[in-house]
Amino acid sequence: MRLDKIGKTSEEIKNLTKKYMIETYERYDFVAERAEGAYLYDENGNAYLDFYGGVAVNSAGNRNPKVVAAIKDQVDDIIHTFNYPYTIPQALLAELICETIGMDKIFYQNSGTEANEAMIKMARKYGVDNYGPERYEIITAINSFHGRTYGSMSATGQTDNAIQIGFKPMLPGFSYAEFNNLDSFKELVTDKTIAIMIEPVQGEGGVVPATEEFVKGLRELCDEKGMLLLFDEIQTGWGRTGKVMAFEHYGVKPDIISMAKAMGGGMPIGAICTTDKIAKTFNMGAHGSTYGGNPVACASSYAQINELLDRKLAENAEKIGKYFREQLATLPDVKEVRGKGLLVGVEFNNTDAKEVKRGAFKNKLLTTAIGGHTIRMVPPLIITEKECDMAVDALRKAVEALQ
Ligand SMILES: *Cc1c(COP(=O)(O)O)cnc(C)c1O
Repeated sequence: MRLDKIGKTSEEIKNLTKKYMIETYERYDFVAERAEGAYLYDENGNAYLDFYGGVAVNSAGNRNPKVVAAIKDQVDDIIHTFNYPYTIPQALLAELICETIGMDKIFYQNSGTEANEAMIKMARKYGVDNYGPERYEIITAINSFHGRTYGSMSATGQTDNAIQIGFKPMLPGFSYAEFNNLDSFKELVTDKTIAIMIEPVQGEGGVVPATEEFVKGLRELCDEKGMLLLFDEIQTGWGRTGKVMAFEHYGVKPDIISMAKAMGGGMPIGAICTTDKIAKTFNMGAHGSTYGGNPVACASSYAQINELLDRKLAENAEKIGKYFREQLATLPDVKEVRGKGLLVGVEFNNTDAKEVKRGAFKNKLLTTAIGGHTIRMVPPLIITEKECDMAVDALRKAVEALQ
């Protein structure tokens, strides 16, 4: 939809939003009318450098032409069928994903939090099926983020902020250990523990990569105790960190992986992947979803993943990410630049992250603020050094204005 075609102004759209929508987001003050590559455009044609990338979704660029073509093509054949007949996009995507990341089986969902629900359910049922009804506890990390539905929220190790406040009691069976501290996880393991669940790089929790020692230690611990290692790769997956999957950085493999965000090319889709042995626990009727595996979402995802692989965008993320982080380190008041590939966090000493975000917006750069002093950037993986320089300039002006 375009404003000129429907005869409305951007002010009218903002006012309708404020009047009728339940608003839980701090909005940028513009109407995004079009998108292309690394840019969003408002109704006046102003270009904004999209370094939040629809929150790590638009990895092959906004409206990647191959993705657009795949969606249009699929809409002409079937939009939705549910999972009773076989469908072509599901089958092709399943093979592509499983063969690319070295997993046996996939189950489709519609979003990240749903993928995590499926992962939690699978781990619990695996515990019950293989060890008995008491084996259902899952240890996750403090400051983790796993989503906004009850299972994922309960897995999220942030118990004293807006995510959980007002919604308690959480689902029982979760405990939270310190990220990157193997002993802290070891201390929480009991006879009831069936799984450990982490993000390889904590995204919302400040952009903190797991150390190799920590991840290897968790793998050994899980093997020793017959527990499953669960990776939430919803943000880190599909090239973001400089490898196709972030687990590849660590030389270990998780037992179940959840994915969403970048895999869909902008269509809502999520999934879990696992081994044949663990997959068996989801027998007939054990889990299901009306839209999970929707043909349009799967066709979009198939085009998106092929594009990410064909154009070696993980390698670009590695190379450009390194350059970008070096440039960001030259900003005023920087305490630390963290991340892997193009999952980038900049922590300032005293400068307020929300103010930096607002200032950057005035300079036509879109970012997100996470925590008091940290901004996160997850641009499309197609960006160039020149676009990084533009982003650093926009941030420099914003930060300087706040000193
Ligand atoms: C975004 C995100 C989720 C939740 O995904 P939704 O699609 O928003 O439900 C879960 N885990 C991580 C690591 C994420 O970044």
